[in-house]
Formats: sequence, C-alpha cells, structure tokens
Amino acid sequence: MGAESIGIVGGGIGGIATAVALHQVGINAVVYEKAAGLHEVGAGMMLWPNATRVLREMGLLEKVLACSGPNTHFLVRATCGKVLMNIALGKFDVPAVCMRRSDLLAVLLMALPRERVCLGYDLKCLKQSRGKVRLFFSDGLVAEHDAVVGADGIRSRVRSELFGDSDPIYRGYTVWRGLARYDGNAVPPGSNSETWGVGKRFGILNTGHERFTWYATANVPSRHLDASCGRKRELQNMFAGWHEPVADLIDATANDGILKNGARDFAPLRRWGDGMVTLLGDAAHPCTPNLGQGGCMALEDALVLAKCVDREASLHSALRRYESLRFHRTKGIQQRSLLMGHIGQWQNPLLVTGRRVVTRLLSPKLIERNLRRVYSYKT
Ligand SMILES: Cc1cc2nc3c(=O)[nH]c(=O)nc-3n(C[C@H](O)[C@H](O)[C@H](O)COP(=O)(O)OP(=O)(O)OC[C@H]3O[C@@H](n4cnc5c(N)ncnc54)[C@H](O)[C@@H]3O)c2cc1C
Repeated sequence: MGAESIGIVGGGIGGIATAVALHQVGINAVVYEKAAGLHEVGAGMMLWPNATRVLREMGLLEKVLACSGPNTHFLVRATCGKVLMNIALGKFDVPAVCMRRSDLLAVLLMALPRERVCLGYDLKCLKQSRGKVRLFFSDGLVAEHDAVVGADGIRSRVRSELFGDSDPIYRGYTVWRGLARYDGNAVPPGSNSETWGVGKRFGILNTGHERFTWYATANVPSRHLDASCGRKRELQNMFAGWHEPVADLIDATANDGILKNGARDFAPLRRWGDGMVTLLGDAAHPCTPNLGQGGCMALEDALVLAKCVDREASLHSALRRYESLRFHRTKGIQQRSLLMGHIGQWQNPLLVTGRRVVTRLLSPKLIERNLRRVYSYKT
C-alpha cells in the first residue's frame, strides 16, 4: 500500500498497540490521546497466550517477560481457601503472564517513535469527505488522515460519531482493583486464583517480583458510593474472614490506590465501521472483565488490522476485512465473559450451593479444552 496515513483516536493499550503494528508494516500512523500524559491506570492485567503470541510477533515478548509473572494454573477457591478446581493452562508456544498495565504500555511505547503520539488531543467530532477523514479536537486543532481508527474506549466518541450515542450496560456488580507487595506463602507459585463467595469474588494474580494485583467484586447498585470509611476499610469489611492472603493484600494497598469500576459492556455491535473509519478494542467490543480478555482482544485487533492494511489492495477494503475477521471472535468473548460474570455473582443460596457442587465435579480437563480454543488463536 502507498503512503497513506492513519489517525488513531485513543492512546490506551489498543491505540498504542495499533500504532506499533502499523508502524511495523511501514504505515504512517499517529495517535491522538486526550490525556496530557500516557499513564495507563488499572493495576495489573492477565495476558493469555493469545495476547503474548501477538506480542511475540511484534518482537516485544522478551521485554514483557522481563517484567511479568508467569501463570501456569488457575485455581477456583471457596472462601475458606479450599481449592474447588485447579485448571492447568496446558502447553502453548507462548506463556500466559500477568503484568502491570503501566509496564505493558511502556513496552509498547518503546517500539513507537515518540512523535507518533500527540497528547492533549480530545476528539469532539469527525467528518468524512472524498475519501479523507478530518478530526476536530476540543482546542480547535484539526487533523486529516486517509483513515481513522477509534480506539477511544468503552465511551468512544468515534463510535458516537458513526452510530449515535449509547450508554454501556451496567451488569449489576462493581470491581475494585489494587496492586500490593506480598511475600508470604499463601499463593502457590505460578497459580492465579479466583475465590467465589455469595455475590462476591476475590481474584489474586501474580505480576512477579513479589507483587500481586488483586480484584474484588460485589453486587451493588451502579451508582454505589464509597463508604465514608474509605474504599480500603469497606473492602476489609466485605471480605473479612476470607482465606489468606485476601486481607493481607487489601491491607498492603493504599486507600487511594484502589480503583473502582462498574462491570459494563454492550451487546455485540454488528457494525464497527463506516467509510474510512473503524473501531478497535473496547470502542468496538467492550466486555465485562471476567475472562481477562478485553486488553488481549485489543492486541489481537491491532495485529489483524495491520495485516489487513498491509495485504489488502485499498485502505477501505482493509478496514472492512479487519471488521469481518474480528467480529465473531470478539462476540464470543463478550458473551462468555458476560455468562461467567452472571454465574460468579450468584447470591441465591441454592444456586451458590449448586455452583459449588458442579465446580467440584466438573473435569478441569474439560474447562482446559474449552479455553484452549480461546488461547490458541493466531492472527
Ligand atoms: C476490572 C477490570 C479488569 C480487567 N482485566 C483485564 C485483564 O486481566 N486482561 C485483559 O486483557 N483485559 C482486562 N480488562 C479489560 C481491559 O482493561 C480493556 O479491554 C482495555 O484496557 C481496552 O483498551 P482500549 O485501548 O481499547 O481502551 P482504553 O484502555 O479505555 O483506552 C482508551 C483511550 O482513549 C482515550 N480517549 C477517550 N476518549 C477520547 C477522545 N475523545 N479523544 C482522544 N482520546 C480519547 C482515553 O483517555 C484512553 O487513553 C479489564 C477491565 C476491567 C474493568
């Protein structure tokens, strides 16, 4: 393809990964991020083999491995700590890891010339005419590109410009997250875990070097206000009596380091693009966090889009090909995540007991085989 330029709105994991992937196939891509600095917040995240495979293809896997924790098993636990299910992740060509989001963003940024990221650019609207896309930002700045990728997250401005405003759907529970140091021995090496209570869950993920990222979920109304005692005390009360090291991890996290997000998504959107504009990452297919796959999907999107741009005869056909290649994959993840969240948040005593019995009877091999399809994806 010729010397086309692509504008990317949003400098999160999806937008920056897309700029890297496009840069690697020789496309001039520029990221416009509304924040004044690139600081990926949000504690740590899982990168499953489908995502580390993307990072390997981008030549970034070694750097990722240097600042992450390995993950070979996933435990489902009862609140007393009893292991209800131990799922081995199986053998893949690349590992599953957990890392701090800020570290992942830093690794991606190392692969991108600095001038490709414009900070403080808050998109207000866009217009398409004669095969070009004009981006209008809040301070009167205007940019023009041959194509635009909306990687501006779940409340995407680009998506609103294409298809009108719509609010993400709150799924009935909220997620708190934090990062903490822990050097005790209550977490088996290489194992991450999720503990199931009644309408509550607690996840522990090892980001390496005695650092952990944890998450806690609870069924609360969408506008749940922080308790007057603060988030930390509220969580300490909510998860009091749970197995080790739940309390230690909450204790080791600063109150103002605890993030809180409602679990939100959209029903899968059938259209992601129009003309010379497309969507990517959470802007296209936001999902609840239950499979830890939202960011992994954004990485897959980035590489698939760059390959389409590289191989297709025109930018227009590249965008439509990318959308058709990604729709079913991301739809499946959105739906499975939603289902996992419903089951995980059950609080009806009968359902909770049934879940516990079934979890203990289910063969981990069955779950492993099922997940293999998700993790084996190749772009
Ligand atoms: C609790 C929780 C846990 C999760 N755990 C995992 C996990 O373990 N593994 C995993 O893979 N995923 C996980 N996810 C999902 C993951 O966080 C998202 O899928 C991922 O961050 C999406 O990246 P993105 O770049 O598409 O969007 P975002 O990260 O939302 O980035 C969008 C960017 O666009 C910018 N922007 C917005 N509007 C504008 C505008 N008008 N103009 C310019 N810029 C704009 C924003 O400032 C932001 O920088 C989790 C999510 C949650 C909520």
